[in-house]
Amino acid sequence: MAFDPTWASVAELAGKIRARELSAVEAAQHFLARIAQHGHLNAFVALDPEATLAQARAADAAIAAGTAGPLAGVPIAHKDIFVTRDFPTTAGSKMLAGYRSPFDATAVARLAEAGAVTLGKLNCDEFAMGSSNENSAHGAVRNPWDAARIPGGSSGGSAAAVAARLVPAATGTDTGGSIRQPAAFCGITGIKPTYGRASRYGMVAFASSLDQAGPMARSAEDCALLLSCLCGPDPDRDSTSLDRPAEDFGRQLDAPLDGLRIGLPREFFGDGLAPDVRAALDAALKEYEKLGARLVEISLPRTELAIPAYYVIAPAEASSNLSRFDGVKFGHRAAHYDDLLDMYRKTRAEGFGDEVKRRIMIGTYVLSHGYYDAYYLKAQQIRRLIADDFQQAFQACDLIAGPVAPTVAWRLGDKAGDPLANYLADIYTLPGSLAGLPGMSVPAGFGDGGMPVGLQLLGNYFAEARLLNAAHRLQQATDFHLLHPPL
Ligand code: GLN
Repeated sequence: MAFDPTWASVAELAGKIRARELSAVEAAQHFLARIAQHGHLNAFVALDPEATLAQARAADAAIAAGTAGPLAGVPIAHKDIFVTRDFPTTAGSKMLAGYRSPFDATAVARLAEAGAVTLGKLNCDEFAMGSSNENSAHGAVRNPWDAARIPGGSSGGSAAAVAARLVPAATGTDTGGSIRQPAAFCGITGIKPTYGRASRYGMVAFASSLDQAGPMARSAEDCALLLSCLCGPDPDRDSTSLDRPAEDFGRQLDAPLDGLRIGLPREFFGDGLAPDVRAALDAALKEYEKLGARLVEISLPRTELAIPAYYVIAPAEASSNLSRFDGVKFGHRAAHYDDLLDMYRKTRAEGFGDEVKRRIMIGTYVLSHGYYDAYYLKAQQIRRLIADDFQQAFQACDLIAGPVAPTVAWRLGDKAGDPLANYLADIYTLPGSLAGLPGMSVPAGFGDGGMPVGLQLLGNYFAEARLLNAAHRLQQATDFHLLHPPL
């Protein structure tokens, strides 16, 4: 067979399937076989070939009937934080063991309407809390570039699966960096849209004022295709969904970058940024200069405060969101208990992992009477100042570029049991999250151990098409996004 779907982009696969040179069923079978061969990565936590093939047959029928959507027959997979009717949903937690949703998340439904076929559910940190995917009740995911290293988190299964070509594209969610950081660590492309552009309906909630869905794929072009299907208002189901019509985010992929001002925040390039990561970023930024962009130094003076602000706000919202897991409505319930309170206590003690419990305790504390003003309110004020810093910066530049993380992916176990070390590594992704800005990670070469380095691009509100344009132009000039780990 001359055409091997393993290497095809989303656009190529969609074209082949639409032209009926490859059926959706064949495409699904191809990737299901690859998934079965790469079980050691622990990227998938739920598979149901029957359900997948039924979706694929429906896609083939829609193509035959001429009613197919733009992604008809394209195999994708969803982070296990999105609820799905056809597959169980655990959010990486024992608390949701055996749970099956009666409905699909809006993101899942929109991609299905576009014709995408779901291969299965992808491993992630428990309730999306983490940066290494080691906080999953299903066990850690391995980085396909080096199985002794973490894939990043919390969307680690999504990143590992795309990097290992087990699926052409996947969904992820980003609360404080969980699309960008694993994309960077696995050498793939990911985009988190402006807060409110993608519906949160059916995403198991972590921190509602920060959570956003987005695609993770090999290229900016593929991300644009998926993002265009995923976004759009959902007013009846998500009250924070914005009233902005769906867009073709790929409409200006090829636009020249002449005169584009790329801001480099001084605070993103200081001590703490590993020299190998810095060297890769410098080379990528030189490419941008060759493409006609101008690099300008900017400042985001409150960068450091993003960590304490985020680690107050996110746990506060998490403690409130996770109160619904009480053993009554869904998921796990302790087998033995004395009375109702004892049932709650034992269920939650058994169902949640250590990191989730830590955040519930921090969140409950900062929201409690007497501490609310000192912590939660203060954090919200800092959040506003961080957002203001970005608006100030965007007076002098069109896009912002910097690292996604201070180092390449670390070894499994290296930061396990050290929550602060994990939190500190989020420094470059948290500011954009707190401000609600769109952000990307784009493959930008390799660092220590031959591990991938990601370049973070941040745009102002609604600048997704511009971000994807800048990423695409870099990908036309470099081939980092085409390189893959030994498979
Ligand atoms: N690493 C961050 C955290 O642990 C971000 C996670 C995310 O974006 N879901 O909260």
